[in-house]
Amino acid sequence: MNVTHLECANCHKNYEANKLQNLCKECGKPLLVRYDLEKAAETLTKDSLKLREPNLWRYSEVLPVENEENIVSFGEGLTPLLKTKNLAEKLSIKLNLFIKDESQNPTQSFKARGMTAAVSMAKELGVKKVAAPSAGNAAGALSAYASRAEMQSFLFMPSDTPRANIIECEQTGADVTLVDGLITDCGKIVAERKDAEGWFDVSTLKEPYRVEGKKTMGYELAEQFGWNLPDVILYPTGGGTGLIGMWKAFDEMETMGWIDSFRPRLVSVQSIGCAPIVRAFHEGDRFATEWSNAETVASGLRVPKAIGDFLILDALRQSNGTAIAVSDEELINAVKEIGTSEGLFCAPEGAACLPALRKLIEQNLVKENERVVIFNTGAGVKYLECF
Ligand SMILES: *Cc1c(COP(=O)(O)O)cnc(C)c1O
Ligand SMILES: [Zn+2]
Repeated sequence: MNVTHLECANCHKNYEANKLQNLCKECGKPLLVRYDLEKAAETLTKDSLKLREPNLWRYSEVLPVENEENIVSFGEGLTPLLKTKNLAEKLSIKLNLFIKDESQNPTQSFKARGMTAAVSMAKELGVKKVAAPSAGNAAGALSAYASRAEMQSFLFMPSDTPRANIIECEQTGADVTLVDGLITDCGKIVAERKDAEGWFDVSTLKEPYRVEGKKTMGYELAEQFGWNLPDVILYPTGGGTGLIGMWKAFDEMETMGWIDSFRPRLVSVQSIGCAPIVRAFHEGDRFATEWSNAETVASGLRVPKAIGDFLILDALRQSNGTAIAVSDEELINAVKEIGTSEGLFCAPEGAACLPALRKLIEQNLVKENERVVIFNTGAGVKYLECF
C-alpha cells in the first residue's frame, strides 16, 4: 500500500518490494520494509482507529499487503493488555504491572501475527509452497495460515518439540518432518532443499514480512496506553522478531507524529540453558555467537543463533534496557505463580518474564510506580509435557 522499498538492516542496500526477497544479497542480513509514512499518516490517524476492526489489519497503511483480497486472517492481534493486581502485590516494590496476553491470538501464540503478514504477502506474490524451521508455535501458525491460503506448508521441527505443536500441524494440513537436532539444524535443511523443491523460505527475518506482522504489538501498546508508552517491556526472546518489530514500530509512530522520542527500556529474557543474546549483551558484542548445547523446556527460547541478533542488541542498548537469563526451574515455577494469582495459564516463555522482573527489581533497574509490561507470548496448554 504505502511500501516504498525494502532496505537491508545492516548495509542499507535497497531492494524492490513487489518481488519475493529473502536475505540481503550483499551481506546476508535481514531486509526491512520501508513506507511512505507521510502518506500513511494522511489516513491512518489516532482517531481513525476508533472505527476500525479489532485486529491487527486495522494498521493496514503501515502493513505490506497491496490488495486487501490477499489478506489471510483469522482475526489476529489487538490482544488484551491485562492490568495485574494480585501478581503486582507479590513483588517487593509497588509497580503498575501489565500482561500483554498474546495467548489469545489464533493458534494460541503471537506467531499468528507474523504469519498473517508473511502468508498474505506470499499469496500476493504468487507463492504456492512455503517452508520453515520452527521450535513449535511458528509451525502451528504457518500450517494454519497456509491451509487457509490454499498453500502447501513444509515444516521442520526438533523431534522433542511439544507434542501439541506437532499434532496441531498434522491436523491443519502441513507436511511435518521431525529432526534430531535444534531449530538451527532445521533451518539448514530448509535452506538446502528449498530451491529444488520450489519452497519459499518463511524462516523468521529471512523474509521481510513476519516482523511487520509482529511490529503491530508496538502499535497496540501505544494505543492501549493512550499514546504514552510504558517504562519497561520484558520480552522472552528467541529470534527476537517481536522486539525488533516493536522498536521499528516506535520509530514509525514517531515519524507519523503519534508519539515523542520517549522509549520504553527493552529487556530480553532468555533461559540459562540458551542465552546467546544475554551473553552478547553483557560482553558488549554487536553480534551473538552461537550457543552450544542449547537446552530449555521453553522451546520458543531455544534459538542458539538469531539472524537478527544485532538488531535485538542495538534495540536493547539504544533503549537503555538489558538482557537477563532465568533458570528453567524459575520459569516453570512462575507459570503456576502467575496462574494462581491472575488465572492465566501462560506459556513457559512468557512466565520467564516474572523471575526476570524480580532480578531487575533486585538490581534497582526498575523503580517504584513504573509501568511494566510482560509479554505472555503463548498458551500453557500447548506445553503439557512441562507440568
Ligand atoms: C517464538 C516464541 C518466542 C520467541 O519469539 P521471538 O520473537 O522469535 O523472539 C517466545 N515465546 C513463544 C511462546 C514463542 O512461540
Ligand atoms: Zn546488506
